[in-house]
Amino acid sequence: MGICFTRTHEIPISSSPDQSPPHHYQPKPQMYPTAPPPPLPKPTFISTTFTKTPSSAQIGPILGIAMCDLSSIYVLQKELGRGQFGITYLCTERTTGLKYACKSISKRKLLNKKDIEDVRREVLILQHLTGQPNIVEFKGAYEDKQSVHLVMELCSGGELFDKITAKGSYSERAAATIFRQVVNVVHVCHFMGVMHRDLKPENFLLVNRGEDSPLKATDFGLSVFIEEGKVYRDIVGSAYYVAPEVLGRSYGKEIDVWSAGVILYILLSGVPPFWAETEKGIFDAILEGKIDLRSAPWPSISDAAKDLVKKMLTWDPKKRINAAQALAHPWMKGDGEASDKPIDSAVLIRMKQFRAMNKLKKLALKVMAQSMTDEEIKGLQQMFNNMDTDRSGTITLEELKVGLSRLGSKLTESEIKQLMDAADVDKNGSIDYIEFITATMHRHRLEKEENLYKTFQYFDKDGSGFITRDELKHAMSEYGMGDEATIDEVIRDVDTDNDGKINYEEFVAMMKKGIHDSDEKQR
Ligand code: ADP
Ligand code: MG
Repeated sequence: MGICFTRTHEIPISSSPDQSPPHHYQPKPQMYPTAPPPPLPKPTFISTTFTKTPSSAQIGPILGIAMCDLSSIYVLQKELGRGQFGITYLCTERTTGLKYACKSISKRKLLNKKDIEDVRREVLILQHLTGQPNIVEFKGAYEDKQSVHLVMELCSGGELFDKITAKGSYSERAAATIFRQVVNVVHVCHFMGVMHRDLKPENFLLVNRGEDSPLKATDFGLSVFIEEGKVYRDIVGSAYYVAPEVLGRSYGKEIDVWSAGVILYILLSGVPPFWAETEKGIFDAILEGKIDLRSAPWPSISDAAKDLVKKMLTWDPKKRINAAQALAHPWMKGDGEASDKPIDSAVLIRMKQFRAMNKLKKLALKVMAQSMTDEEIKGLQQMFNNMDTDRSGTITLEELKVGLSRLGSKLTESEIKQLMDAADVDKNGSIDYIEFITATMHRHRLEKEENLYKTFQYFDKDGSGFITRDELKHAMSEYGMGDEATIDEVIRDVDTDNDGKINYEEFVAMMKKGIHDSDEKQR
């Protein structure tokens, strides 16, 4: 078969006619610069309304957060890999000795406003997707004089790309196990309102060196929040994997399914479906759209596998299978194992957690949700729109049912009803926008001290350092839940030192209890 299958770089988009130029920070390799002194050790998330900045620290121009000296928090070690934009290093957190991966993007490569927006968006998207199965866990973003650093979970098993090239091709069974995770990533991204735009084996990493290590997607550098009705035009992606409609400059999230289809073809046959010596040749092959399923080894590959390849590499994006349908395809069920398991989506996990919270906590979350910036909640906003199919501004029980089943959830009618009741804080029978954000808001928000403190102050009106029974009653009445029984219940639950009021420590303990998505995940 002598075709070489090589690493691809993002397509250099020199010919981009529209206003949105390509996402390039310029691919020049660079030494990791040593960071300058001064303080602030905590990972900070960008553009939070609550962020109070210590007056001593300078605000970084890229992320808009206080700059810090990364080397005071992590020891940076060997290079793990580099892509078009960043260099990723192994690093060790000084206080814990835990190992992470740190993607450092040199600020010298961020030449204009667009480049800066791209980096900010990468952080926001990582933050939005972290905690999901098959997505790399995000730890924090930092900025120093020379670079922006994204610290995340270390995936020590290397790239899927290297595994494929070492192996040639896979048995159908092994391919299905890997591919299910690839499609799961597409599914998670799309449901969470994100289009990845650069799915390829280089951007899937193995968590460990084990034979059946799970796979995780990284590199959301080209990803965008999907805006309903928007036609995307910028040519991004990597040559072998790029969908024909990207080349035609008019596309939507279906392009990720195409790229995944290319990965499937490679897993099964060891070679890319559209191949040529030059980039132009590859594009011509993609535009022609002929897929060879006849040459070796295809005759020995099952019809079910071929059927899935064809459905994912369907030229017309409108006729192409979507991620949820691909997950349900008979070939994916393969050995039966895992495939029938409902996907516990972020929405579901978070809503279940929300259901278990006491009323004060729900209210506190609502207070927080109301002060989030548009940028921070863009992803959740998109999810809300996904569910609010009639665009009424509220999600009804019926919409919730449809929305969750599209996620692959197999909840019973009564379970959905319970979720609905939990999220419907004001009990008017439907979930409004702010209630949805409240119920699904990410735990990151809760881990931020400033957010917690600001919210505590909202309740502690006289600034005494305690939320008294009266203050609690007052705040809860505003939301129609100020009855004595509820107040008693909250105090009983939160007031661990039994002095009849809630101090800041008690408040923080309540807010932080059980906030990790993974606490409830059975994976
Ligand atoms: P780029 O946007 O420049 O392509 P990536 O995020 O893809 O940057 O990172 C470049 C390379 O660094 C990856 O292909 C991979 O080899 C390595 N890498 C990235 N993230 C991790 C991680 N979490 N653990 C281990 N290696 C990683
Ligand atoms: Mg990459």
